[in-house]
Amino acid sequence: MTKYKLEYIWLDGYTPVPNLRGKTQIKSFDDFPTLEQLPLWGFDGSSTQQAEGHSSDCVLKPVAVYPDPARRDGVLVMCEVMMPDGTTPHVSNKRATILDDEGAWFGFEQEYFFYKNGRPLGFPEQGYPEPQGKYYTGVGYSAVGDIARTIVEEHLDLCLAAGINHEGINAEVAKGQWEFQIFGKGSKKAADEMWMARYLLQRLTEKYCIDIEYHCKPLGDTDWNGSGMHANFSTKYMREVGGKEYFESLMGAFEQNLEDHIAVYGPDNHMRLTGKHETAPWNKFSYGVADRGASVRVPHSFVNNGYKGYLEDRRPNSQGDPYQIASQILKTIAEVEERTEGGISVAA
Ligand code: ADP
Ligand code: MN
Ligand code: MN
Ligand code: MN
Repeated sequence: MTKYKLEYIWLDGYTPVPNLRGKTQIKSFDDFPTLEQLPLWGFDGSSTQQAEGHSSDCVLKPVAVYPDPARRDGVLVMCEVMMPDGTTPHVSNKRATILDDEGAWFGFEQEYFFYKNGRPLGFPEQGYPEPQGKYYTGVGYSAVGDIARTIVEEHLDLCLAAGINHEGINAEVAKGQWEFQIFGKGSKKAADEMWMARYLLQRLTEKYCIDIEYHCKPLGDTDWNGSGMHANFSTKYMREVGGKEYFESLMGAFEQNLEDHIAVYGPDNHMRLTGKHETAPWNKFSYGVADRGASVRVPHSFVNNGYKGYLEDRRPNSQGDPYQIASQILKTIAEVEERTEGGISVAA
């Protein structure tokens, strides 16, 4: 038997953006535990804005498990929050009711700022650094500073060792701003891995006295970019059948459902989706081939392959909940694919 350190991780009840929480329990297993072997656990919901009435007990239900590369015999356990009966999802538990489909693939591009002493890493104490230009994909101390690359490389290695489908890194347009990409088949798998990657990044940066700022426009109405979480998506039908007619009705459904999408694409998005800095205005739907100023960018490859492949919704922001983003995208797609031969099957 080995004593494993199980880190149970969940989303708390804060709105509009939940925080990640985690606590450790030690349990003995013969081998690395499977999901089925991991017990339910409880926590004090009155300390996380999840308490109901007089009873403050909430239940943690393990839903995904990863090795924890930062700890000897460590296990990262993604959990859903349940009511004391252990079976009713807590109102803060969005994951329990999202649409999922393993044929629907998602690639999230998480942008964020490193923050130190209340400002982006690398900003001088007063005023601003050199304007944007050389930071995006930059190399060298004046572009990316001295510690950011160490952190993103360490984060990449942690994610890969945890079995998270981390797909890449780049320095972003603003000083102190970076991006990583997570790809997954199915909304729950992709979104679980995004939340876990966020957790690993936040835990990693503790020792550097650096915070992760996920707000979509931390520098307000200035010439500094905000942060998005572009959602690239495809369904089996989109990849294998597609077609111009299908594509146009899909874009029609996206336009129709604009408000439902914006509602789950992250708070304060009107501050970011202004029409400037490679964004489309939040209240007007648009799409365009290779157009980084559109709501949905249609890759050249999509058109060249006869309107088949994946699309990029550029509106979700860095604070958005990937569970709800993926689910809303699937919900809109299902309106169109239900009418089409070979459409997706979405399981609630
Ligand atoms: P850019 O910065 O040019 O918008 P990135 O390379 O940062 O693009 O991100 C592209 C994302 O698209 C990646 O996360 C990738 O996994 C995702 N992607 C690629 N093919 C598909 C597909 N068929 N379905 C869903 N996502 C996809
Ligand atoms: Mn990108
Ligand atoms: Mn980017
Ligand atoms: Mn993108």
